[in-house]
Formats: sequence, C-alpha cells, structure tokens
Amino acid sequence: MAGALTDAPAVTVPFLSLGDVNARHADELKAAVGRVIDSGRYVLGDELAAFEREFAAWCGVRHALGVGNGLDALSLILRAYRDLGDFAAGDEVIVPANTFIASFLAISEAGLRPVPVEPDEATFNLHPVNVEAAIGPRTRAILAVHLYGQLADMAALGDIAARHGLRLIEDAAQAHGASRDGIRAGAFGDAAGFSFFPSKNLGALGDGGAVVTADDRLARRVAALRNYGSEVKYEHLYRGVNSRLDEIQAAMLRVKLRHVDDDTTARRAVARRYLRAIRHPLIVLPHVEEGEAHAWHLFVVRSAHRDALQRHLGDLGVQTLVHYPVPPHRQPAYAGESTLDLPIADRLHREVLSLPMSPTLDSAAIGHVIDACLSFGAGR
Ligand SMILES: *Cc1c(COP(=O)(O)O)cnc(C)c1O
Repeated sequence: MAGALTDAPAVTVPFLSLGDVNARHADELKAAVGRVIDSGRYVLGDELAAFEREFAAWCGVRHALGVGNGLDALSLILRAYRDLGDFAAGDEVIVPANTFIASFLAISEAGLRPVPVEPDEATFNLHPVNVEAAIGPRTRAILAVHLYGQLADMAALGDIAARHGLRLIEDAAQAHGASRDGIRAGAFGDAAGFSFFPSKNLGALGDGGAVVTADDRLARRVAALRNYGSEVKYEHLYRGVNSRLDEIQAAMLRVKLRHVDDDTTARRAVARRYLRAIRHPLIVLPHVEEGEAHAWHLFVVRSAHRDALQRHLGDLGVQTLVHYPVPPHRQPAYAGESTLDLPIADRLHREVLSLPMSPTLDSAAIGHVIDACLSFGAGR
C-alpha cells in the first residue's frame, strides 16, 4: 500500500505552524488591518513610513525601505549600486554555494554574475579564506548570507571587503535580530536585504521585504527604483520596478515587530534544549560561535544518514525539512555552472536536516522531538 494516504503517520510535531504563530496576535493584527481599511490609503502611506522608521531603529541602521519581498530587496541593492556606477554588467559577486537560490537570483537579476564559494562546514556560512581566494579582477561585492539565523563572520569579511575595495552586502532574510556585541544583522555591511515571507522570524501575512542601509545615496536610489524609478509622481528618473511593501503588510509587521524579540528568546530556549539533550553519534549538532546571539531561524543538524533520520522522525510524527536539497549551482536555472566542483556544499546538501523550530513549540513537543532523535538507529 505504499503511497496510500491513510498509511502516512500522523504529524504530532509540525515543522512550523504559522497559524499558531499568528493566532497569538490575532486581535492586534485584525485591529491593524481594520485601521488600514478605514484609512483609505493602501500603498506608500503612513503605515509603511512608520514601519520603516521602527524597523530601521530596531536594526540600528539609518534607513529602511519596504519592498515587495526579500529577493527584490537584494536585487534592488545590487541594481542601485550598479546604477550608481559601483558595478558594471557582468561583474562578479561572491556568494556562499549552499544558500537559498534567491541569493543567486538577486545577483543575476541585477545583470551580475554569482561566484559561489565553499562555506565553512561548521557554521554553514562564508569561509573568509575561500572568499579571499575567489576574488578576481571583476569581483565587486560579497553577498554574505546569515544562513539559518547565524551571522556570517562579518569582522573578517569586512576586513577583506575593505582591503579589496568591495561592497559587503548582507542577505539577512533568515537573521532578524541575530547580533554580535550589540550589533544586529543588517548593521554590519553597506546594505542588507530582509525578507518578511510568512515563515521568516519576522513574518508578514503575505510577501514583504526591506532594504536597510546607512548609505543615504543608496537609500534614495532604492526608494525611487521600487516605485517606477520615480521621486516625484509622474516624473521618472530611472527605469525602475514596482516593488513596494503595502500598507496592510506594513501595519501587520508593526504588530509583529513588537513581539519579535520575545519570539527570538523563545527560539533560543528551544535551541538550548535541543543542544543540551540531542547527544547521538549519528547526529551532528549545529555549532554556535562564541559571543554570538543566533536568531535560530532554523535548527539544522547534519547526519551521514540524513534520509533515514528524516524517515525515522517522520514515522514518529516529527515533521522535518531539508534546507536545501539541491545547491543553486546544480539547479537547471544555473545549468551553465553545474561543472563547478564544490564538494563541501554538495555534502552539506546531502546531510542537513532542519528540526521543528518555532516560538510556539511547547515543552512536550520539544521533548518529543528530542526523544525521537535519541531513538534513531536503536535496534539496528
Ligand atoms: C527567504 C530568503 C530570501 C528571499 O526572500 P523572499 O521574501 O522569499 O523573496 C533570500 N535569501 C534567503 C537566504 C532566504 O532565506
């Protein structure tokens, strides 16, 4: 009866229940939506302006600009720097090989070339030595992805960028609130792109994203580019796009922003319990850098027996996901790059497994995930 729906084991611990996440704030969210409906202003209004101020202050950066999604946030940063003369068509941007494909797509969309490099196996993030080795005459920028909510080594990358005259841009789509020495994701580089996709740590109830930057010139250009290349209505300075964070999403994000620090605290408590209790010879726990406040967007373990582990957990009702099954350079979209030899990235894609992670996981659910992990391979 393989494949019969009735044979599927019941899910006792979902990977992430967005309904549960948002139900906690249902009254506030509904009030926020009602306020927008009554205002009669639905795009580029007061809610967006207020959210941009609040999010910029929360990140500790001068400017935040709401855009349509995280991919657009990144591609608009790159496009703006290109327009401002920092990059030319075909210039190269260094990016970790094991990222979500949006990091690559943003680079391609801006007419630039992604140059994937092997990550640090322990942190899943860019390895400064590999970054430096990949710098060539056309390298113009480093796109540092804070993968799974852990900051990339921004001190080392900042130093490399400064020495080689490169822009350092953060893909902070998974890292809202991750910090080191009181500095938050988004405040390390020249600019950062955030996503507010519903499953992100700060999630809208639809698509959304933001560019944050301390660079006045860049902020002004992105503000125009997202709005048909216009600063004054019907006056079009640039061939821009339409990518704006609408008022309803901005209003709901203002509500969610008030709770995101508590959510991060809850995520850290889940991670602490996993880290303490999951002691298993076939499961490698994520490495946390000393002195870093991880945002725990995902709790990613590694196993040489990943697929068997995922089946075992699924049989016990624990839903897991793989972030990500295929590296971007092996996707059909990047068929031209498929001859690249990136064995560390390839191995990570075979071994990574994301355990349930949510600020709403209760103690019993966390215990069930832990017990399910500990029983892997018993009796084999
Ligand atoms: C989600 C994500 C993006 C893209 O964000 P969207 O809002 O989905 O377009 C980019 N980079 C990373 C690392 C992401 O996880």
